[in-house]
Amino acid sequence: MEAPYGLRKIEAKLIDSGFDVKTVYPDYIDRFNPKVIGIYVMDPFGWGPSSTTFAGILKTGEPYLAKYFRLLFESSSYKKAKQGGAKTIVGGPGVWQFKLNQEFMDKYGIDCVIDGEGEYGKVLEIFVDALKGEELPRFVNLKPWECPKLEEISEIKNPSINGLIEVGRGCPRGCKFCSVTLRPLRWYSYEKIEKELKINASAGITSGVIHAEDILLYGQKGIIPNEEKVLKLNRLAKMYYKTLSWSHASFAAVAAKPKLIEECSETICDENQSWWGAEMGIETGSVRLAKKIMPAKARPFKAEEWPEVVVQGAGIMKDNHLIPACTLITGLPEETDNDVIKTIELMDELKDFPSLIVPLFFVPMGKLKERDWFKKEQMNDLQKELLIKCLQHDIRWAKEIGKIYFSEGLRDQFIKPLYFLFIKIIEWQGKRQKVLVN
Ligand code: SF4
Repeated sequence: MEAPYGLRKIEAKLIDSGFDVKTVYPDYIDRFNPKVIGIYVMDPFGWGPSSTTFAGILKTGEPYLAKYFRLLFESSSYKKAKQGGAKTIVGGPGVWQFKLNQEFMDKYGIDCVIDGEGEYGKVLEIFVDALKGEELPRFVNLKPWECPKLEEISEIKNPSINGLIEVGRGCPRGCKFCSVTLRPLRWYSYEKIEKELKINASAGITSGVIHAEDILLYGQKGIIPNEEKVLKLNRLAKMYYKTLSWSHASFAAVAAKPKLIEECSETICDENQSWWGAEMGIETGSVRLAKKIMPAKARPFKAEEWPEVVVQGAGIMKDNHLIPACTLITGLPEETDNDVIKTIELMDELKDFPSLIVPLFFVPMGKLKERDWFKKEQMNDLQKELLIKCLQHDIRWAKEIGKIYFSEGLRDQFIKPLYFLFIKIIEWQGKRQKVLVN
């Protein structure tokens, strides 16, 4: 069985620390009579920027993610396990949402929410206390420096969803709205990475994702990619996976090393895949805002060059079959109408760039965590125009990407019509809400 990578990571650390751990399908929790239930969350209430933004303009109801997360706690399996006295501990990148929904914790008996890297010693102590039946702290917020050293991070012991494996943690760019950047930068050795690749490959996984905040900075302390290290990493992953993608990379690193992207394309694209994907942050088209909130995002170029870096990076990616899913943020503190106009202008320049561009509402995190949330009710006409532009761009490119994404295999031939039906529904909903024209 494949499980989320974050869950596999904490499972591995607990096993290595002598705990008896089972990762189970939510409906089977009670069968194991657990003393502690550990739950991993990405976006438990559908408040993650990507869930809320399109839902905001399309006026859909309770987010899908929120509904199924709630149903987990309402399942007879969870209820029975709780009646048996199990403590519930929640971790994962979406835990910030619980601070704003403590009634949910009370309602469903969530004892402890941990924000930080789970391999840290303090987290293991909480699991020990939970096993002893002691009262747990409601919230544990690990400081940025309270994180495991490389050698304290266990390798996964069981396969991960999407064949995802991490190759490093942390990011040197220091964007103010991001919490990742506060933690130290650590890169895994090739040996450590290979052990995890082998776990997935031996479970029959042939398609996978290598994860870091910027794959192109693999092995580096700074912001200049090292060609040799990046190519070696990709060759290693391709030894185990027929098809490979990257979790994240940066426009700046792409623009800084076009030759490297060409070589990565030659390494990754073959008879099994004609393109590969990555998630990339554009965030804004405004130089003024970029200088304020993400001054190092463009490096080694100047922050003043940010929009050109994005356009140049887009051209390099298009030439080399790297199709990214990009993010934009609107509603950032101090964002002016002129900043939104600059982002809309950048969107115009990117209209022929094969990509998905997802607009996100500002969520207070990182150094901006004390600032106010941006709510959809605050959206002005310019911000709506930006969102609509993104939606139009995404519908056009989702159709194109769909044509090359699905193989001739039986499974894909079954899923393909559903994928196109999904796009049609979004299009229909967009027209109904009068945000898309016929
Ligand atoms: S580049 Fe990405 S991961 Fe790095 S600090 Fe900025 S937003 Fe965070």
